[in-house]
Amino acid sequence: MTSKQIRKQFLDFFESKQHEIVASAPIVLKDDPTLMFNNSGMAQFKDFFLGYKKPSSLRIADTQKCLRVSGKHNDLDDVGKDTYHHTMFEMLGNWSFGDYFKKEAIEWAWELLTEVYKIPKENLYVTVFEGDKKDGTAQDDEALNLWKKYVADERILFGNKKDNFWEMGETGPCGPCSEIHVDIRSIEEKNLVPGRDLVNQDHPQVIEVWNLVFMQFLRKADGSLEILPAKSIDTGMGFERLAMVLQGKTSNYDTDVFQPLIQELEKISSKKYGSDFTTDVAFRVVVDHLRAVSFAIADGQLPSNSGAGYVIRRILRRAISYGYRFLDLNEPFIFKLIPILQNQMGEFFPELEKQSNLVTEVIKEEEASFLRTIEQGLVRLDNFIQNNSELKQIPGDVVFELYDTFGFPADLSRIIAEEKNLSIDESGFESEMEKQKQRSKSATSFSASDWTVLFDDATEEFIGYDYLETDVKITRYRKV
Ligand code: ATP
Ligand code: MG
Ligand code: MG
Ligand code: MG
Repeated sequence: MTSKQIRKQFLDFFESKQHEIVASAPIVLKDDPTLMFNNSGMAQFKDFFLGYKKPSSLRIADTQKCLRVSGKHNDLDDVGKDTYHHTMFEMLGNWSFGDYFKKEAIEWAWELLTEVYKIPKENLYVTVFEGDKKDGTAQDDEALNLWKKYVADERILFGNKKDNFWEMGETGPCGPCSEIHVDIRSIEEKNLVPGRDLVNQDHPQVIEVWNLVFMQFLRKADGSLEILPAKSIDTGMGFERLAMVLQGKTSNYDTDVFQPLIQELEKISSKKYGSDFTTDVAFRVVVDHLRAVSFAIADGQLPSNSGAGYVIRRILRRAISYGYRFLDLNEPFIFKLIPILQNQMGEFFPELEKQSNLVTEVIKEEEASFLRTIEQGLVRLDNFIQNNSELKQIPGDVVFELYDTFGFPADLSRIIAEEKNLSIDESGFESEMEKQKQRSKSATSFSASDWTVLFDDATEEFIGYDYLETDVKITRYRKV
């Protein structure tokens, strides 16, 4: 089954259960001071749960573009190293706003997974909230009894507040959740270690696919819980993980979501995916980050030096660094993958096609300018290491100067140091960063967050400003 079919079947299934199918909200949030990027399906429906707005339907389903690279949900460090955490991923979700509750949510989740997608029942584990003494909440017996209709006792597990209780923030709607995990290991491996021992243990093949949140409480400012009069459902299923399970793969990157990108990158780099761990990590980082950056730019967030734009710039630079270090790519290459991504996802997400030129131009320019930075920074860092061969640690002020004056990322200094069996003085670096923050705070109240320098290179001549849809102004330079 192709990933396109998998997505469609999810939406068709919930449409057949009277859900209104809505489009994904943008990945970048422009009007939410509490959140930079959409990091879960429910973000666009927050006001419905809070009762500030009325939804057009009490039942909604969609797939939401999510980005988990900042704030409470930051998976960036795992991306590429593991095979199932992405920066950008799609979260399939169904919602009830004061309409159906646990019974239907559980019944339909089970029906979809086992009857429509035909995942063998014995491969599925579910988790139930065990209760919390401090909150005075009981074990979620309602969910437990509903699950027992479908799932054998030995495949039901209990989880604590960390994994099985969901809260939007310090206050607001919240409630217990049940997660569904899939064990896709071979029979031999299953015989060796029972799947239930591996649930929530970060095993790449005993993996969480779906989280069903049962919103039944309201957390008040004093920390106490009140029972909500209208109970709601909020679910989120990782689309790429589901594709892995249904396509019989053991890594998200082996599915048709990522394979065309990986194959193109193999051509570009003349390296093979699957032959060496370090190279593989680089492949995964590049194809993952490409998606995050392309979708962010298509939704109006350009790379810049502050706020959300800075996060995007860092993601892109991380991909460029990995390509440079481990795939020997020292010319812009990421932009060449964009047509493949469009081919894969443009039909469902037309913004990718609409903003095609912008996405390509921005990524290519960022690549060119950052590759120049890398070349200069590497020479400086190598010189420093050679001239100070007695040091085991690269001083924080050296790393900071490379970062601050030359734009050479600390991550890259860290990678290079590690390769040479050195470390970097993290606390020294942190304290330089802190000093810098104080300096810039006192130096100026001017904020650069609403404009973006596209080509910030001294050899370029200013030719004017461009405006994007709303508030993003690009400074344009012509190369001289
Ligand atoms: P995990 O424990 O694997 O980090 P989570 O509990 O943080 O996942 P939820 O917040 O419950 O994830 O999100 C709902 C679903 O979204 C998860 O069950 C999972 O399938 C998927 N998901 C979460 N984070 C990622 C990610 N970084 N990349 C891909 N899919 C993800
Ligand atoms: Mg997580
Ligand atoms: Mg989890
Ligand atoms: Mg979860």
